[in-house]
Order: sequence, then C-alpha cells, then structure tokens
Amino acid sequence: MERTFDCLVVGAGYAGAVAARELAERGGKRVLVLERRDHVGGNAYDCPDEHGVLIHKYGPHIFHTGSKRVFDYLSRFTRWRRYQHRVIANLPRDNPEVVPAHKKTDGRFTFPVPFNLDSMERAFGPDEGKRLGEKLLDAYPAQSQVTILELRQNPDPEIAAIAEYVYEHVFVHYTMKQWGQTPEEIDPNTTARVPVRLSRDDRYFQDPWQGMPLEGYTPLFERMLDHPNITVALGVDALTRLDVSGGAVRVDGQSFDGPVIYTGQADELFGFCFGPLPYRTLDFGFETHRRDFYQTHGTVNYTVDEDFTRITEFKHLTGQDLPGVTTIMKEYSRAYTGAAGETPYYAIIDPANNALYEKYRALAGECGDLHLLGRLAEYKYYNMDAIVLRALELCDVLLEK
Ligand code: FAD
Ligand code: UDP
Repeated sequence: MERTFDCLVVGAGYAGAVAARELAERGGKRVLVLERRDHVGGNAYDCPDEHGVLIHKYGPHIFHTGSKRVFDYLSRFTRWRRYQHRVIANLPRDNPEVVPAHKKTDGRFTFPVPFNLDSMERAFGPDEGKRLGEKLLDAYPAQSQVTILELRQNPDPEIAAIAEYVYEHVFVHYTMKQWGQTPEEIDPNTTARVPVRLSRDDRYFQDPWQGMPLEGYTPLFERMLDHPNITVALGVDALTRLDVSGGAVRVDGQSFDGPVIYTGQADELFGFCFGPLPYRTLDFGFETHRRDFYQTHGTVNYTVDEDFTRITEFKHLTGQDLPGVTTIMKEYSRAYTGAAGETPYYAIIDPANNALYEKYRALAGECGDLHLLGRLAEYKYYNMDAIVLRALELCDVLLEK
C-alpha cells in the first residue's frame, strides 16, 4: 500500500505540533500527526467552560521565555496579550493573637512569591523586615536571587533564621503536597525555579518575553497545524498503529523508515518492559463563582495548609471580559498510578528514575529514525518555551540530514 505520509508525529502538544510544522513547511514532508485526545494542544489546551469562561483544562499555562527564536516562532501563530504573572502565598498567621482586634481578618495573611524584600517586610514587619532585607543584600552582593537550598547553607545565625522562615512558610509544606517529598529529597533544580529574590521584583517570571496568546492556546495550535502537508488524526492512540518491538519501526504492520517523532511516555512505547517510570499526577477542582473576581491574583499558593497547592483564576491570566462570573482551579497532586483516565504531568527526576529512563532511551536509539521528544518522552521538566526550542533544534538536525 502506498503511504500518504513521509513522517509520523505522535502527539499534538508543543513538541509534536512544532515538529510537524517544521517537517512539513521547512522540510516539505507530508506529516501525519496522531493524537490520542480529542483535541490538539497537549497540556496547554484551553477551551471555554459551560459558563463561557476560558479555562486551561490541564493546569494554568503562562508563556515566558528568554529565547527570541521561540518568541518569534510562536508569534507567527498568535498575537499576544501583555501579561506578567504575579503570585502570592496565602497562609495562616503564626500567632493570630498578636494582631490588634481592629486589624483582625481571618487569621491569614499574604506575601509575594517568590519570597522577596517586600515579602520579608510582610512577614517580619516593616522595620525588622527592612533590616533583614539589607542584611541579605549585604550577604549576596553580586546576586539578584538565591535558592532556598543555598540560603539554608548560610552560617550566619540571622540569615539562617530567615532561611528557616522561608523554608517553613514557602517551601516545605508546598513541596510535600506537590511531590510527597521534602525540598532536600527532590531535584534541586525544581525548588530553584522559585528562588528567594534579592529585590522587590514581584513577577513570578523574569524572562524578557512574557504573555498569553491573545485568543488562547488552542487557536495557536490550530494555526500551527494548519498546513497543506499536515494531516491531524484526533482520538487515535498511536500505539494501535505504531510498533517498535525488536528494534524495527512498523506502522500499520508495515516497516516504516521515515522519521517518527514520538512525544508520549517512553515506558508506554516499549510496553513498560523495564518497569513503569514514576510520575506525579494532578486532580483539578474547578469551581465557578457568580462574581467578577474570586481572588486578587492569577495564582494564589497555599504554602502551609490546605490539601491543594494553589488556586488559579483564569480571568486574570486571559484578560477575558466577562462580568459576573469567574472560574477557578484548585490543584491536588498525588502519585500517578497508571489507572485509566490519569495523566502523568510531572516526571519525578532523581538518579534512579533517570537511570530507568536511560534504558528506554537506549532502546529508542536502536529503532531506526525514531526520536523521543517532549516532556513525557524525554522524562524532563520542560516549560513550554524549552520544548519549543528542543523541537526546533531537533528539526534543524533532521532537515540537515
Ligand atoms: P504534552 O503537552 O503532554 O503533549 C503530549 C501529547 O501527546 C498529548 O496531547 C498526549 O495526549 C499525546 N500522546 C501521548 N501518547 C500518545 C499516544 N500513544 N498516541 C497519541 N497521542 C499521544 N509551561 C510553561 O512554560 N508555563 C506554564 O505556566 C506551565 N504551566 C504548567 C502547569 C501544569 C500543571 C503542567 C503539568 C505543565 C505546565 N507547563 C508550563 C509545562 C507545559 O505543559 C509543557 O512544557 C508542554 O505541555 C510540553 O509539551 P509536550 O508536547 O512535550 O507534551
Ligand atoms: N514551590 C514551593 N512553594 C511555592 C512555589 C513553589 O515550595 O510557593 C516549590 C515546589 O517544590 C514546586 C517548585 O518550587 O514544585 C516549582 O514551582 P513552580 O511554580 O515552578 O511549579 P509548576 O508551576 O511547574 O508546578
């Protein structure tokens, strides 16, 4: 049977969509994209909910990058809404009794996250907070930020006390909720994503390019995949058509020697032959409220208590003008079990899991023109921009061949 495609792409998230577009447009190849879900966009997919609020179905996505190449590339498929994400922690006061009665609220307070010099003043009071902030600036004169793990190594007793405060009020409980492990037990790069800021910059990200796709992520993906050389088949599990057993790549039972870009789980591709790779999954609690806004910020982190990690209110992110109604999302993290309907959202990066992943990667390396690409397939903690760049760079190599 004559093939109608030269390349096979599995998954229509960022990795798959960018690769498909590049192979189709730059390489002039006919590309078949198979996507298991009934929509494109992968975990960045957004859609209106039943109340008309534009929501992110698989968790809040805010675009930010330091790569001009990535920003320019995506800007071909979307215009941008200017948006800089700001996050606050919401936590119980350590000692609510000391707050004067006329100032008493609900026994809780907030400060900016990442923890910065303003957070310090919120936590320790204006005078003591300012003094401690200056002390911190003196301790790290050449840095704009410091990770919590680095701060905890500081021998100065006052700085150690600040580190303990931040560890206790920002990191340890949130990290236990998110990972089921302490900050020391997880990959240090993970907590380093949210450093202690030695400034009053209260933006969650400091990248030069930040924003939200003006009409949402899904239209961005639809445009990216809208090319005469690309065919997208939704609702198709590629593993019903793709077989890589024995090192040979077969599609629909026949051997296939074109490039295969696979963006799903590596362990699943190989029938879990070395055992399953561990992941964290999330349960999302959506709530719609009959008011303009539910909270002051796009995301509020519950860093000390509650079972969920954070609440995101989409209207802050999207800028959607929809009076009288708003939808929020609570995120509950737990171990991924592989049960039907569960999504593996986060790879659990540690030496043992990385070693297990390497076995799958080595197997993939023996399978013709098969390429593992993406957050799942590479078992990495990629942000959107990082996987776009990876996909562009992989295609640079493939198209040079
Ligand atoms: P995915 O988006 O997971 O796409 C993979 C696709 O492959 C999926 O659609 C899946 O259905 C499909 N697939 C898998 N197996 C098969 C199969 N056998 N057959 C057919 N199809 C298959 N990044 C940011 O930059 N900013 C953020 O604010 C941000 N927030 C995030 C919040 C959460 C809760 C999570 C989980 C991630 C967040 N990210 C964020 C990261 C972002 O989601 C990823 O960088 C991005 O989605 C990775 O794209 P991908 O194509 O590798 O994977
Ligand atoms: N983190 C934390 N408290 C916070 C925010 C983050 O302890 O208020 C830690 C936690 O371990 C988390 C990691 O920093 O998993 C990275 O946070 P980020 O917001 O980047 O996570 P993501 O948005 O990828 O879930």
